[in-house]
Amino acid sequence: MTATSGLAIDARGVEVTYGDGTEAVRGVDLQIPEGEFFGFLGANGAGKTTTIKTLVTLLTPTAGSVTVNGYDTLTEGRSVRQSVGYMAQETAIDTDLTARENIKFACEAYGVTGSEREERIDSLLDLVDLADVADKTADGFSGGMKKRLDAATALVHEPPLVFLDEPTTGLDPKARNRLWEYFQRINDRGTTVFLTTQYLEEADYLCDRLSLILDGQIVETGSPDELKSRVGGERLDIDLADETDTDRALDIAREFFAADATVERTDDGVAVTARTARERGPDLLVALRDGDVAVTGFNVRAPSLDDVFLAVTDDEDGLTEAAQ
Ligand code: ATP
Repeated sequence: MTATSGLAIDARGVEVTYGDGTEAVRGVDLQIPEGEFFGFLGANGAGKTTTIKTLVTLLTPTAGSVTVNGYDTLTEGRSVRQSVGYMAQETAIDTDLTARENIKFACEAYGVTGSEREERIDSLLDLVDLADVADKTADGFSGGMKKRLDAATALVHEPPLVFLDEPTTGLDPKARNRLWEYFQRINDRGTTVFLTTQYLEEADYLCDRLSLILDGQIVETGSPDELKSRVGGERLDIDLADETDTDRALDIAREFFAADATVERTDDGVAVTARTARERGPDLLVALRDGDVAVTGFNVRAPSLDDVFLAVTDDEDGLTEAAQ
């Protein structure tokens, strides 16, 4: 392998315009260090699959440059393909074959031969917990088992980087959680993982770092915690007994937090988003009581990636402002 400067993926200014004029990817930059569990999060049609296909050389970018494992995707496509595993959205396994045969077939395709082959097949079957059903045909497998087998076939050549395109879509929560364990195991072995997902919870649970893609452009990048903290802190919801008190409650909350919070009207009262919401919430409740505002309930919660996603998709400027 060539020198990689520690980056598994280095993509700069990537643009992909399809033949019909659809600008699916519009200037994407990605620098992904070796060993990272990276998440690419976006809604349907945001450009995730198009980006992955470009990174694995199935599509040629309209503009920009991509280096994967130190190889240029335009001039060293073969080396790129040999150094990555790709689990596409549609399962690539043959359901007429057994689990073992499917992995063996992938070994043939990747030129894994000789004495190491059987050993590798066994260790992959173990890795994805299919050793017990190794000699059963895959047509009887559940959706989760098929996905696990598919993941194993993408790893036969021991690639240092694996792409997983929405691997858990359509699975029930139990099968999804189980798959997460295997992905973590793969990453723990030192494999860089590039995962696309529409599930915020999945990105939050698995990823060291993630980017949000919206309409072909990356709008946020950071660790799940960093992205959450960009929402502007924790959220305190206060329910009021009397709707006519809302304006007074908003004034009191704004005065109390001064410039350190976003204070909004909600269906049930007011909401405060502030880094000190949890710590200073009780004092705000006292201030409201002193101002003759009757409170019927309150709740403080940490921001979720949902909040980040909503902030970005509702109003990109809003997130930037909240971060300042
Ligand atoms: P999904 O979650 O649905 O897989 P995605 O984020 O992976 O979505 P892409 O499949 O990359 O998104 O699609 C990005 C945009 O490009 C969409 O507007 C899609 O309709 C369009 N697109 C995808 N493939 C083609 C194609 N072959 N020709 C024209 N437009 C396409």
